[in-house]
Amino acid sequence: MAEQKFEQISQPRLLLRRLHGVMAGDGSAQVRLDKLVREIAQNMVAEVCSIYLTRAGGVLELFATEGLKEEAVHLTRLQIGEGLVGLVAERGSPLNLTEAPKHPRFVFRPETGEEIYHSFLGVPILRTGRVVGVLVVQNVSSREYKPEEVEALQTISMVLAELVGSGGVVDKNELSEDASASGSPITLDGVKLSDGVAEGVAVFHQPQIVVTRTVADSVEEESIKLDDALTTMQKHLEEMLSHPDLAHGGEHREVLETYRMFAYDRGWQRKMREAVQQGLTAEAAVDRVQQENRVRMAKIRDPYLRERINDFEELTSRLIRIIQGNTGDEHETLTKDSILITRSVGPAELMDYDRTFLKGIVMEEGSSTAHVVIIARAMGIAVLGRVAGALQHTQSGDRVIIDTGSEHAYIRPGDDIVETYRTTIKLRTRRLEEYAAERNLDAITRDGNRITLLMNAGLLVDLPSLDSTGAEGIGLFRTEFQFMVAPALPRVSEQERIYRAALDAAGDRQVVFRTLDIGGDKQVPFLPRDENEENPAMGWRAIRIALDRPALLRFQLRAMLYAASGRPLHVMFPMIAEIAELKRVKKILAKEIERLNQFNRIPPTEIKVGCMLEVPSLSWQLNLLMEEVDFLSIGTNDLMQFFFACDRGNPRLGDRYDLLAPPVLSFLHNIIVTCDHAGVPVTLCGEMGGRPLEALALVGLGMKRLSISPTAVGPVKRMIRSTNLERLHAFMMMRMRSAQHSIRDSLIDFARDHNIKL
Ligand code: PEP
Ligand code: MG
Repeated sequence: MAEQKFEQISQPRLLLRRLHGVMAGDGSAQVRLDKLVREIAQNMVAEVCSIYLTRAGGVLELFATEGLKEEAVHLTRLQIGEGLVGLVAERGSPLNLTEAPKHPRFVFRPETGEEIYHSFLGVPILRTGRVVGVLVVQNVSSREYKPEEVEALQTISMVLAELVGSGGVVDKNELSEDASASGSPITLDGVKLSDGVAEGVAVFHQPQIVVTRTVADSVEEESIKLDDALTTMQKHLEEMLSHPDLAHGGEHREVLETYRMFAYDRGWQRKMREAVQQGLTAEAAVDRVQQENRVRMAKIRDPYLRERINDFEELTSRLIRIIQGNTGDEHETLTKDSILITRSVGPAELMDYDRTFLKGIVMEEGSSTAHVVIIARAMGIAVLGRVAGALQHTQSGDRVIIDTGSEHAYIRPGDDIVETYRTTIKLRTRRLEEYAAERNLDAITRDGNRITLLMNAGLLVDLPSLDSTGAEGIGLFRTEFQFMVAPALPRVSEQERIYRAALDAAGDRQVVFRTLDIGGDKQVPFLPRDENEENPAMGWRAIRIALDRPALLRFQLRAMLYAASGRPLHVMFPMIAEIAELKRVKKILAKEIERLNQFNRIPPTEIKVGCMLEVPSLSWQLNLLMEEVDFLSIGTNDLMQFFFACDRGNPRLGDRYDLLAPPVLSFLHNIIVTCDHAGVPVTLCGEMGGRPLEALALVGLGMKRLSISPTAVGPVKRMIRSTNLERLHAFMMMRMRSAQHSIRDSLIDFARDHNIKL
């Protein structure tokens, strides 16, 4: 039996032809479906083969079966997510079980008589990324289906998708209307990836990619088509990369370089060629391999690697478009406020959309470290990620509201929800306009104390915010972002270009470059994550990597020195835990400065060296530290999780400690006073400083410099301009010594009593 199976599966081309013949043959759709399940069951040596198709309302209906009881056809119906078939539809990936009845999601449907079948293999029938049905084979014996059998069934399901898509089986309207997308409102949960509230019409990122031909008439012709398309795609990428606009580097170039690396990937090309050899058309082969990639991706835990698959997704779409003779890389042109609905979107694609109309993205995948998310954040586009069923439940043109605060996407929301959010969005927009109008005002308190408001940045797309927010400079340039979006370690010349662009954009304003803070949750392609690290935030990261791999640090410092030639350079080091560490990196810097002389390079006019205070141990060397640095920057994001010994990623601890707790305030106050006495400028650059109430507390403690996200500059400046520092300071000095859990409530009362704008 096993031999017979192998022999038959090794002839996939013939099977595909036969299935295609059945589909194109005579008889009603039902007759053809019945023939198909018989053919598939026989070929897969399975006792059961069943086809379930999705009907309106998100119901999977048994449409044809070989092996199950006939009376169950059109009677057995399962919701998406219900039973094993529903689970395949929900996940959009295969399910291969040796003991199906023991699976916790197994539901017993007596009319089918399936309880006697032990093994189960189900694959989704996918069309334009949506599940339109599920194809199942079952056997009495408790066997495990081999990977090549899973693949064979997936290939067959592609052919079935073609039949379903042609509208001959389920009414086409029902299909395109789909499932739950038939008008009723639905709320989907997701994860906040980029902050915001947005409303718009649903636009599918890839509406036009429909694989219409799956079975090849001539394998030779399809092979040539695939090879030609690959060559064309590679040529496009080379042309785009040689475009003069990209000559100066930047995110766009780096993204394209990542694609170039993938476009030449031999393993990927080989798999697609094999799929053509099995009898698929070139376009179906590309789609087929991508389906496999997605399934594999679902098993990968490393977020960085998972995101790389998304880059493949973008490349795949391009390739299919080329095969279909649609060489333009155009997206739907946005003409009104829109929310992009997609499994994923590549960063280059995102930058192609019209920023005026693109208000938000709902993604089925995505992680906070994804390139596209880093860029969306910098562009101020709201992103809700990991929204299961987004494609399934949404129709092009549907009204969609995203609220990343509640982590909901409202699809076709009712009037009450629309009204509420429209008011919120209007208020936000009006406030943004007001902040923009106030950008040239000084951040000065009512009693005349100046506070310096700087912004945090990391990408070239951040730089225009310097002018639009009126920030007085960049207090933290996170250089690692550039490394995170690059396909490989950026060369010194590339790094130099980016640093120079930041300095050019800033003009006379200060830019503080922080050397690489990689490791932990910030993954870069050239340094694989150590899966064994139990606590990456306290692991091999930032300056620890730099000291163990000094070449990396040396090249980065060199690039900064070159970029700042003839103007001031501010450089600081992350995660310094003790002065001895700082001294070691300063020595490396000194050598690089010396090297400038040897090579007759013009040095910066002055070099100011600082460090981050984000590891508590360093605060017990503050007095000595004052002699070693020109400035200090407090990184509360890291510092506070170590201060309270409280993992900020742990949801059970989310509200346990408050940053407005007396011990935090006393601790920060001590740092501020020490720096003031020593005449060393101190800035706070953690997220804390960007929240008006927290910023109020910090200013009250004597903090005079805050480096915050660009969107926070307006609100914090407004708060400062409405505050009397003398009164606030007296209040903070008193509260700081209290035994309260937090001073939050009393500070809110204080702000209200003194008309402070929060
Ligand atoms: C911090 O830890 O507060 C900080 C600013 O650094 P990052 O958020 O980049 O770790
Ligand atoms: Mg930090």
